[in-house]
Amino acid sequence: MPPEAPPPPLRLIVDSDLLGANWTQLNRHSGAARAGAAVKANAYGLGAETVTRALAKVGCRDFFVAHSSEGAQLVSIVDAASISVLHGPQSAEDAAFMAAVGLRPVINSLRQASLWLDAGGGACDLMVDTGINRLGLAMGDLGDPLIGRLQVLTLMSHLACADEDSPMNEVQRLRWREACAIVPSRDQSLANSAGISLGPDYYGTLTRPGLSIYGGTPRNNPQDKSIWLYTPFRIEAALIQVREIAAGETVGYNATFTASRPTRIGVVSIGYADGYLRAWSGKGSMINPGRWYDPREQPLELPVLGRVSMDMTVVDLTHEPELHEGDWLQVLYSLPRAAGATGLSQYELLTTLGGRFVR
Ligand SMILES: *Cc1c(COP(=O)(O)O)cnc(C)c1O
Repeated sequence: MPPEAPPPPLRLIVDSDLLGANWTQLNRHSGAARAGAAVKANAYGLGAETVTRALAKVGCRDFFVAHSSEGAQLVSIVDAASISVLHGPQSAEDAAFMAAVGLRPVINSLRQASLWLDAGGGACDLMVDTGINRLGLAMGDLGDPLIGRLQVLTLMSHLACADEDSPMNEVQRLRWREACAIVPSRDQSLANSAGISLGPDYYGTLTRPGLSIYGGTPRNNPQDKSIWLYTPFRIEAALIQVREIAAGETVGYNATFTASRPTRIGVVSIGYADGYLRAWSGKGSMINPGRWYDPREQPLELPVLGRVSMDMTVVDLTHEPELHEGDWLQVLYSLPRAAGATGLSQYELLTTLGGRFVR
């Protein structure tokens, strides 16, 4: 047996208390409804197991994943019946698997309804398409006898434009209400993170935030400013080389940065293969996590110089003479700010954080 490899020189530190605090605020904000949590895609990249454990601890009882394999990963942490599989059964095998494990599929079509009934399925959720034209049963199929045979726990739909003030929100809400009147269910659910800011008419008995739990702000103009969410994670990467360059020298691929003065630069072990995309070239910044910053002051930001490469990024260390090879830097990654700087959505920015981190 070879010795165990040391951890890679970059890490994603998830703060369970801040995750719990975010969910608790969203739960309170959901009024008479309770909040669930979308933990699909490895909890948007933050680590589904850590996140699920943290949220279960503060009282979350409804978890949403996309695939049954994602659900199976969580059954040792929370009750399988509290895990809802949004894509529903893909095949007879998948339906049998979910029935055996006790996961709750979201039925999205008549075909999925029969797969689930044939598997002897019990309780399930039902997704109705009210206009997004993505997954979900058509409104016209709600009266089908197959649907009548389902034991529906949550009747849900998904909003297309919840992050905007669009008339489509109200149209979808009315269709969802209509569906709720046709198919009996224990819970009714419509709102994702952005939907929560549309107000209580959109809550039903269960909301389904994802992005907000992870510190994202889904609307640019939140109507309600009483909710303030933490960024519950931080990214740190090691300084793997420090060098001095003279005025006129360039940094990185294609020499896009030219030093205008003698500059002390640091090579940091994070790059686009880790999800620190090339959009950060010349735009991102890092800070020294070992320095105590007065909370009233802006931290001293070390700007990214030149292009981000696959495994490395260079920053200006001129104003941080105390930092040396082997020290760690914190990569600034506030989602709203990151979206502004890169033009990418906050969802993409989170979920692209790569597999090379120690979480
Ligand atoms: C991903 C997802 C959510 C969570 O959405 P956010 O915008 O991240 O809050 C809720 N419902 C469904 C059906 C989803 O697919």
